[in-house]
Amino acid sequence: METFDIAIIGSGPAGLTAGIYASRGAASTMLFAGEKWGGQLMLTSTVENYPGFVDGIEGPDLMVAMKDQAEKLGVKIMNVNVTEVDFSVSPFKVKSGADWYLAKAVIIATGAETLWLGVPGEEGLIGRGISSCAPCDAPFFKEKNVVVVGGGDSAMEEALVLAKFAKLVTIIHRRDAFKASKIMQQKVLSNPKIKVLYNTEVQEVIGSQKLEKIIIKNNVEGKISDFPVDGLFVAVGHSPSSKLFEKKIDLDEKGYITKPISIPGVFVAGDVHDHHYKQAITAAAHGCMAALDALKYLE
Ligand code: NDP
Repeated sequence: METFDIAIIGSGPAGLTAGIYASRGAASTMLFAGEKWGGQLMLTSTVENYPGFVDGIEGPDLMVAMKDQAEKLGVKIMNVNVTEVDFSVSPFKVKSGADWYLAKAVIIATGAETLWLGVPGEEGLIGRGISSCAPCDAPFFKEKNVVVVGGGDSAMEEALVLAKFAKLVTIIHRRDAFKASKIMQQKVLSNPKIKVLYNTEVQEVIGSQKLEKIIIKNNVEGKISDFPVDGLFVAVGHSPSSKLFEKKIDLDEKGYITKPISIPGVFVAGDVHDHHYKQAITAAAHGCMAALDALKYLE
């Protein structure tokens, strides 16, 4: 059985950038892309903040370009899910389906999934008025009415970014108090363009081609009402895709991989270890760093 120098698990910006650097570093590289490859950018519309694209680029187009570039440079990409890993012996073992693959070094770049509300109508309007990334999409909502759902630091940050563009930002939170840090709360509450609806839940999202309105419910009074809105930003948290690595490497209490990994030869990149920046460019940079570290380890 062939032993690869580097196996990469994940095919978002972190994994594909790691592949590009690994292959350019003359390492034989296998990348397990997953059946649904490409990560969160596959769900985004125009990306205006990834450097190098003057007019922006569609998220899926950016990922196709990264994948083509990695393949052109020699990365072997398989659109399969990894079902098991064994880091107890070297070379390390990565399983997909019934097959085991061997690699001297492994880079974990499995990313994180946005948690959505899971209400009727939401799924079909993601990218058509519904977003989870204000830094990416706020400029599309100049002088519009937008809603942010959530009460944590992410929701506060999203609201503050949106307030620079939107006419009015309404934060909808299910409880009567935010869980966000006090300093973030103060910034939000003192911003005249941000209003808050406490004790309120989104019940349904309505729109044919694009988002038109949401149905909200005050969970104290039980009152249900229509809320016309141009944009809905969901900021109810992320879930790192790290289940595969439970009990194999250290995870924090929320499931993010903690760095540095205690097993020499195993590296991590991107949102599966980063709950703070969560940007395509930072994930790509982590991928570069992990590949350089892996190449050094192989030396
Ligand atoms: P959090 O888990 O901290 O907050 C999620 C929020 O969403 C909570 O207010 C929660 O409500 C609400 N929520 C969860 N599920 C639902 C749902 N189904 N419907 C409606 N509301 C829901 O996630 P964040 O992404 O905000 O933050 C994650 C971590 O990253 C935190 O540790 C945070 O401090 C950190 N962070 C730090 C930043 C900074 O320092 N600038 C910026 C962004 C994040 P409830 O309160 O009722 O549980």
